[in-house]
Amino acid sequence: MANEKIILTGDRPTGRLHIGHFVGSLRRRVELQNEGDYKKMFVFIADAQALTDNIDNPEKVRQNVIEVALDYLACGLDPEKVTLFIQSQIPELCELSFYFMDLVSVSRLQRNPTVKTEIAMRGFESSIPVGFFTYPVSQAADIAAFRATTVPAGEDQRPMIEQATEIVRRFNHIYGETLVEPQIMLPENAACLRLPGTDGKAKMSKSLGNCIYLSETADEMRKKVMSMYTDPLHVNVSDPGHVEGNAVFTYLDAFCTDEHFDRYWKDYANLNELKEHYTRGGLGDVKCKRFLESILNETLEPIRQRRLEFQKDIPAIYDMLKRGCEDAREVAAATLDDVRRAMKINYFDDAELIAEQVKRFSGQ
Ligand code: ATP
Ligand code: MG
Repeated sequence: MANEKIILTGDRPTGRLHIGHFVGSLRRRVELQNEGDYKKMFVFIADAQALTDNIDNPEKVRQNVIEVALDYLACGLDPEKVTLFIQSQIPELCELSFYFMDLVSVSRLQRNPTVKTEIAMRGFESSIPVGFFTYPVSQAADIAAFRATTVPAGEDQRPMIEQATEIVRRFNHIYGETLVEPQIMLPENAACLRLPGTDGKAKMSKSLGNCIYLSETADEMRKKVMSMYTDPLHVNVSDPGHVEGNAVFTYLDAFCTDEHFDRYWKDYANLNELKEHYTRGGLGDVKCKRFLESILNETLEPIRQRRLEFQKDIPAIYDMLKRGCEDAREVAAATLDDVRRAMKINYFDDAELIAEQVKRFSGQ
């Protein structure tokens, strides 16, 4: 039987992509792409969503579209295998969002914990833009328009996918089986679910300025690693340290393999041994940070190099995105035909409707 898996994910062009994106979703996307176990794969730049909380800063969004596209290509996403597109160029997504709005209550949206946190983070408590408040609905439309079955994302997206599933279910219940219920695909490694920022804060996020960017130079990255939040109780080298809540160890959990010890730190065989020593006391933060730096460098260097190559032909990237938008639009338009039919708003391509009305009025 043909594989019916359809994968869709995206990112907001509010900044360059960071290592939180990489471990939370990007790395997995590239693996999925290369495994080829899917019918279609879409990756999109959510510029319309980014505008919901940057409405007075369109230039920021415009500039970051190409940054995100470069990061995608640098990480290994291949436009031959994946359709890369820009959200705002697919008007069908607005149309579907509008219909979806009626399938959700205000109180249901207010319960979304990720949106609650984001509203507080942006100081929107007293005045929330309606578009921002309802972005989970628009996100449900993005997913449903492409009939996505699988959404690789970080844990903050779990409430969004639940919301999308509820909307699709309600749509199908009212209008008949038309759309597909999506499922989130979370990273397997717990440290990658929600990578903390370099300041140790809950989540590395472009909007918080606590990121290590994929395109950062080795120098910039070293400075950030060296000033990272660790364990405030670990004052002297001899003090016992804590690995829980220590961002350096969370990053090691996300990136480090046994081979890294073989290459960069032969004193230990694996991360457990290193953690044991740190917890016992007698191991300084700087040594751990240097090790982390080597690992991050090894991971990011090929990405940096590929980015430099792609930067040489920017028009080719816009061309590629334009083609991606055209392909994506065709797919979304086909879904919207089905949606309009199911919602009984397809007045002009329904011969039966006209015949019915002729009959209805002929008796009068
Ligand atoms: P913004 O601050 O503008 O919301 P962001 O850094 O949160 O930006 P998004 O574009 O909202 O990034 O997220 C894109 C994808 O990356 C989502 O799947 C999200 O779950 C994932 N992601 C973002 N930050 C992290 C993180 N720190 N750890 C794991 N996954 C993350
Ligand atoms: Mg976000």
